[in-house]
Amino acid sequence: MKKITCIYCRASGHRKFPAEHVVPRAFGNFRHNLTIRCVCSSCNSYFSEHLELYFARQTLEAAGRLRYGMRKESLGRPGEALTCRSRESGVLYGAKVILKPATTGADLNVEYLPQVAISRLGNDEWDWYAENELDRSVAEKYPPGSRIKFLVIAPGSDRPLRERLASLGIRTGLRSSVQTISIGPRVTARLTYEFRNSISRCVAKIAFNYLAYAMDENTELLLRRDFDAIRFFVRGGIQPGPEKPSAVQFMARPMLARDTREPACGHFLTVGWDSSQTSIVSQVTIYNILSYRIVLAPSFSGVWFDLIRGHHFDVEQKTVLPLRFTRLWLPD
Ligand SMILES: [Zn+2]
Repeated sequence: MKKITCIYCRASGHRKFPAEHVVPRAFGNFRHNLTIRCVCSSCNSYFSEHLELYFARQTLEAAGRLRYGMRKESLGRPGEALTCRSRESGVLYGAKVILKPATTGADLNVEYLPQVAISRLGNDEWDWYAENELDRSVAEKYPPGSRIKFLVIAPGSDRPLRERLASLGIRTGLRSSVQTISIGPRVTARLTYEFRNSISRCVAKIAFNYLAYAMDENTELLLRRDFDAIRFFVRGGIQPGPEKPSAVQFMARPMLARDTREPACGHFLTVGWDSSQTSIVSQVTIYNILSYRIVLAPSFSGVWFDLIRGHHFDVEQKTVLPLRFTRLWLPD
């Protein structure tokens, strides 16, 4: 059997490597899914344990999974890295919400949690707390006389909050008010999460995996030193250097904004040369929410070769199709 070398850690062996999915499976099962066989099992499991978990669970892309039925659990519970807050103006502004999969079709439900809002006297800002977030530090933050209001979701849903506040010595007696709030059919929410390095590394991995796929897993090319920076970044988290730009950057607009004829639901990957024909770059978007530009080889030292590929992962049809552009748009 032919010896194969891992494109990330250069480990080589005669045993078959596992199927590495170009786009992590958390983002959907597709017919004719793109997989490669040039990633060793050690890198394969490292990626799923260290790079894919946070990316698939605590990001905007995670909300995309929920929207398209690829995640069943709610998102944004207090204590999670991803927080969701109401953007409704008025008394509910900033209140905590969770995202839940809709019962029918591809959509999201936004649901308010039972919570209490506290405001220092003379201050118009309200801080919202779920029951499990009420601790000593909250008690110390608000002097006596602070205003308190409860968001009552169902009769009695304020009781555990009141008991918790009482146990912390925060008096809710006469000063507290109970707000009965009618919640409209559509609630907009603001999502915040920590943009960890592992997200960039996961995106860079998708891009380099896709290059490997586009190059028919040509390891002679993929193992060139030109790709060492991206390899070390994905596998070891090593940054290219303080003076060098990050390999992964946000694109100012969604990848498909310029092409209205293509359906906008799903993931899109491209790889090709930049406009100067010296760097190999990739574009990645998951659900067309955020778009990333990844420099895979900043100034390729080898001979130029033809490279322009794109794929659309249609999350509704569950298919993967090559993009049939005569000229793919690649950013500068
Ligand atoms: Zn490896």
